[in-house]
This record gives sequence, structure tokens and C-alpha cells, in this order.
Amino acid sequence: MRFLILSDIHSNLDALEAVLAAAPAHDVVANLGDIVGYGACPNEVIDRSRELGKIFVRGNHDKTCAGIADIRGFNYIAAAAVVWTNHALTPDNLEWLKALPQGPLPLDPLTDVQVAHGSPRDEDEYLLGSDHAADSADNTDVPITFFGHTHMQGGFLITNNQEITFKPTYKEENENETWEMSLDRPGKYLINPGSVGQPRDGDWRAGFAVFDSDTRKVKFFRVIYDVAKAQKRIRDAQLPERLAERLVHGR
Ligand code: ZN
Repeated sequence: MRFLILSDIHSNLDALEAVLAAAPAHDVVANLGDIVGYGACPNEVIDRSRELGKIFVRGNHDKTCAGIADIRGFNYIAAAAVVWTNHALTPDNLEWLKALPQGPLPLDPLTDVQVAHGSPRDEDEYLLGSDHAADSADNTDVPITFFGHTHMQGGFLITNNQEITFKPTYKEENENETWEMSLDRPGKYLINPGSVGQPRDGDWRAGFAVFDSDTRKVKFFRVIYDVAKAQKRIRDAQLPERLAERLVHGR
């Protein structure tokens, strides 16, 4: 089976549409959360995500925008976007967001792969370094975890005596590109497909991944999108300027 793995769309409709146009054929979509927050199209992105189905875990922005988590941990800019999003959501989309499940969850129907927003042990944990990843991997027996939250494409392989960090290597900056790896080594893989709507790894292109459970390969993608349009929507919505500006830098 082929799984399209999306994470951290963050209400960026223009990035999501470009990702869906570039995505190869797949059987199931898994959405790792932070569907909303930061961008200007929360309802459009939720509507599109609901159509795609099928596997979802909630992100910290989903919880906070839905009013079921405390906003106090958010910085001023993120909090402004949370308040804006909460007001913008339709009642139906607000209820849907509230009901999103907590990860980790199996990548159904597989039992040896799971999805989480933050990490296998805590849906809000940031896996930024291999030491965190190793600690978190100790809390799970599942060999492959797809996670989001950090907005950094790549991940970690934790073996009995090694912690390996991997990151796709690309040649271009303004074209679509892919990078493939085989999950063929013993140990636990923790894999971030990248952020669709607000990358923070220095590459402005929308990130996502496709996992093929038959070949045990992950293909990472970076796709260009109409970033000026996404920025204009943010400015027209009078969301903080920083949320528009950062999109062109991927930071
Ligand atoms: Zn996020």
C-alpha cells in the first residue's frame, strides 16, 4: 500500500493544493496534525483534509484553535493566529477539529507503523535532536513512527548502539524534487515528512512524503507553490506580517 503522509498544513491552502497536484498515486492519506493555525484558509484546508480522509492525529494548534488546550504556551504571533482561526472556523469544522484523535495511532491497516504529531511518547514533544528521538523511541515497540511538529523534513534511526540523523539532500531551490530512502536497517525509524504549509528547515517548498509498505521505501517531496498568493491571503486577513514573510524563507 502507498500512504501519502501530510503534516503541519497550517491553513495554507495554496501549498496543500500544490502538494495534492504533485503527489503520486496513493491508497491512503495520513494527516499528522496542525491542520490549522498560522495561515489564512482554515475552513478550506479542513474541508479538503476531510475529503481526503482517512487517518488523522491532532496537533497542538488544532487543539488550541478548537479551544480544548491552553493558549498560554503560545508566543504572541501564534496566539494571534489561534484567536483569529477560532473565530473564522465554521461551527461544523470547529466540532470536527475538537474531535480529532490523540496520537500515536497505528497507520491502519499496518501494525508495525504508527503516526504521531510530536513523538511516540507525547503528542506535544518536539523531536529536534537524536537524543530526544532515542529517549522517545524507548517508549515504543513500533519500528516506524511518522511524526510532525518540528516542520523539519528528515528524521532519525535509533539502533542498539547508534543514533543516526538523516535529512533529504536536494539540488534545486525553485523546482519540484524528490529524495528516496529504504527503511532496511534494524532499529527504530522516526520520520518527519516535512511541513506542507510552513517549512522551517530553510527550504520554502512544501514538504511531504509517500511511504510504500510493500517496498519499505519512503520518498520525500519538495514542491513549489504560489507562495505570493498564500502571503496575500495572510495580509488580507490581517494576521501578523511575520506569518506571511517567513514563508519565502522556509524559517
Ligand atoms: Zn505545526
